[in-house]
Amino acid sequence: MTTETRLRIAMQKSGRLSDDTQALLKRCGLKLNVSDRRLLAHVTNMPIDIMRVRSSDIPGLVMDGVCDLGIVGDNTLEETALERERMGNKSSYIRTTGLNFGDCRLSIAMPEGFNYQGVKSLDGLRFATTYPQLLNRFARDKGINVEFCLLNGSVEVAPRVGLADGICDLVSTGATLEANGLVEVEEIFHSKASLIQTASPLSAPKQKILDTLLPRIQGVMKAKESKYIMLHAPKDKISEVSALMPGKETPTILPLAGRDDLVAVHVVATETFFWETMEELNALGCNSILVMPIEKMMS
Ligand code: ATP
Repeated sequence: MTTETRLRIAMQKSGRLSDDTQALLKRCGLKLNVSDRRLLAHVTNMPIDIMRVRSSDIPGLVMDGVCDLGIVGDNTLEETALERERMGNKSSYIRTTGLNFGDCRLSIAMPEGFNYQGVKSLDGLRFATTYPQLLNRFARDKGINVEFCLLNGSVEVAPRVGLADGICDLVSTGATLEANGLVEVEEIFHSKASLIQTASPLSAPKQKILDTLLPRIQGVMKAKESKYIMLHAPKDKISEVSALMPGKETPTILPLAGRDDLVAVHVVATETFFWETMEELNALGCNSILVMPIEKMMS
């Protein structure tokens, strides 16, 4: 098949997003072998090719139309868009859908003991970062001036070796900051992974593949967030238990063999819902509560 009929998706070759991206594509039913060193991996059961590249190359490949789709962190996407706009290059893309992995924040962190009195304390300081455009935008919005030194890794050691006063880097748990004697003082950008698409219209065959793929991606994400909950409830408490269930989900009520006083209640809900209502369910006399993962969910 020609490149006009095979959908090309860019994903991170190796790193924090690569395992989740690969798992998502596999759960969507794509058969792919990315265990070798090849840049381009063919999906064997659908007309899709996977281009495995560095994260920072993904937005440009999609914006330039080299790849039809890309899976990338919003931080990399926004930084690239700002940088390309600054350079007068094409920076348009479509954010097809947000994905539920790659959660992190871009934050400013200062050495422990720094006397932080709000954003103005950062005025005139120098920061080590991989994200100068996002940092600049933040500084502009806050009316302060900052300098930066561009580093692509080990950003957190910069203050210790005298390269910078502070850092502007990605944080998820904060453990790396703590280990390096740094304290987070400002969150400047929240990020998750996104599926992006080239701004130019896709050829009809490619659009057809995307129309098949997108509901599968959404189904996999929905399933990841949802749980199948089963419990036993007193028969005379069915209406109270049902009232606790999330609005759009109608619970299934089933009889229990040999028990006139109890019924089984099955419902699909988020795990958060479960934890938030567990005490109330217990108080109503519910027991034998089972929470199970859901593989896929299509509406
Ligand atoms: P590459 O090595 O592919 O050029 P990278 O250096 O950004 O890219 P990773 O460190 O694997 O590679 O990060 C990839 C993406 O993972 C980040 O851009 C971000 O969107 C997301 N991410 C999630 N949590 C974190 C975190 N704690 N630190 C860094 N990135 C994170």
